[in-house]
Amino acid sequence: TRRRLIAGNWKMFGNRAALAELTPIAAAAAAAPGVDVAVAVPFTLIAPAAELVPTLPIGAEDIHEAESGAHTGCVSASMVREAGARFSIVGHSERRADQGETSHDAWAKAAAGHRAGLSIILCCGETEAEHNAGRAERVVQAQIEKSVPDNADASWFTLAYEPRWAIGTGRIPTFDQIASMHAIARAKLRMMIGDRAADVRILYGGSVTGENAAAILACDDVDGALVGGASLTAAKFVPIIEAAA
Ligand code: 13P
Repeated sequence: TRRRLIAGNWKMFGNRAALAELTPIAAAAAAAPGVDVAVAVPFTLIAPAAELVPTLPIGAEDIHEAESGAHTGCVSASMVREAGARFSIVGHSERRADQGETSHDAWAKAAAGHRAGLSIILCCGETEAEHNAGRAERVVQAQIEKSVPDNADASWFTLAYEPRWAIGTGRIPTFDQIASMHAIARAKLRMMIGDRAADVRILYGGSVTGENAAAILACDDVDGALVGGASLTAAKFVPIIEAAA
């Protein structure tokens, strides 16, 4: 059986003052021992966050695929790990859109993160145009095919299905659509990594709130949530943790 994971993604929000939100979030996580809780924060906040809430896994939102090198402005997996990160998100749709990252890049970043001892949350998900064209299934299968490392297993690897049109929009798929895409994603994982796919968590992301979390988490093959806007404050994030408990 898969433990639920509720992961926050602060994106390019937050400052040192905002870290105060992590204290009640860590307390809620401690009060929900059956649920894993984690928060990815901007690079500059990793070290102070990890110091403030040592029991709450803090992660990066991206890493470079190389261990080190002449890559001005980039940060490697070992660097974020030394700063206190225990995991990284890779392949987020905002990086695909803003930085032109590909599924192959996400694969390289996932592998690099694992080599450096990080857990990985790898994102996939179709655009609105792909969704409307009935191509969501094929798009997500292709993303998984190109981005999931052969050695992926549940000890370090989590997949997140985030339909891009549901991110930050307040619109979510129907629960049947969520269950169906998660089943498709797990079937694709099974083709790639065999029986290990049964233990890999698949998170849903996109406009998850305290109001819809319980219903989303009740969908087949949904093992948690990747939460953007509603992870920025304890007032919004704690109800999602409680819905998972
Ligand atoms: P929102 O929860 O703000 O829609 O963001 C989802 C997301 O992109 C998490 O990675």
